[in-house]
Amino acid sequence: MEGSILVVEDEPAIQELVSFSCASSGYKVRRVESARAAQEAIRQELPDLVILDWMLPDRPGLELLRDLRGEERTRSLPIILLTAKSAESDKVAGLDAGADDYVVKPFSPRELVSRVKAVFRRRAPQHSGEMLSYGPLTIDPARHEVSVDGKPVKMGLAEFKLLKFLAGHPERVFSRSQLLDNVWGDHVVIEERTVDVHVLRLRKALATAGAQGLVQTVRGLGYRLSARSEQ
Ligand code: CA
Repeated sequence: MEGSILVVEDEPAIQELVSFSCASSGYKVRRVESARAAQEAIRQELPDLVILDWMLPDRPGLELLRDLRGEERTRSLPIILLTAKSAESDKVAGLDAGADDYVVKPFSPRELVSRVKAVFRRRAPQHSGEMLSYGPLTIDPARHEVSVDGKPVKMGLAEFKLLKFLAGHPERVFSRSQLLDNVWGDHVVIEERTVDVHVLRLRKALATAGAQGLVQTVRGLGYRLSARSEQ
């Protein structure tokens, strides 16, 4: 399984259990103990998913969730809320604040991992480990293989990751900064021009297989994957 997970939990035993379960399933895990540390970790590198405890020492996880939903960069970041609160009104508050799922303590690690997978499938299919297909494209994330109309296409790892991300959200336009965040995990240090370079290489690779015009430039906004003809 691919994808990075940020675990925000102050209780050491639970932090360990959650991190171990996710890491055992192949996810790259970072862990922090407070809302402030979570914000700093997200600022440094955008994770692909956050597992967020409700009761944190510095501020409620629910508040952090609302903040993340209010910011452009983290608006669509998949977030699973972790809590001992099982009252229906708490679940509703969590989901209303924008949580993608809600796991009540105590939970089984297997259930947590299957919920993580389900959220990835729904919100970030490029990390679900399942085959992605769009138009003439088929992408096998497990084998790092791409084919166009059944013909294999060779490309570099960066191009592969870029294509996988775009194929997880076809027809959607992403700015260079969003692509850096989501594909490279860094929107500050790496230059936006890097995106253009890899888009160019990706287009070249796809063109050798006869797939032109799939990775489209949307002037002034960024790039998208679309099988519709370019405007
Ligand atoms: Ca806690």
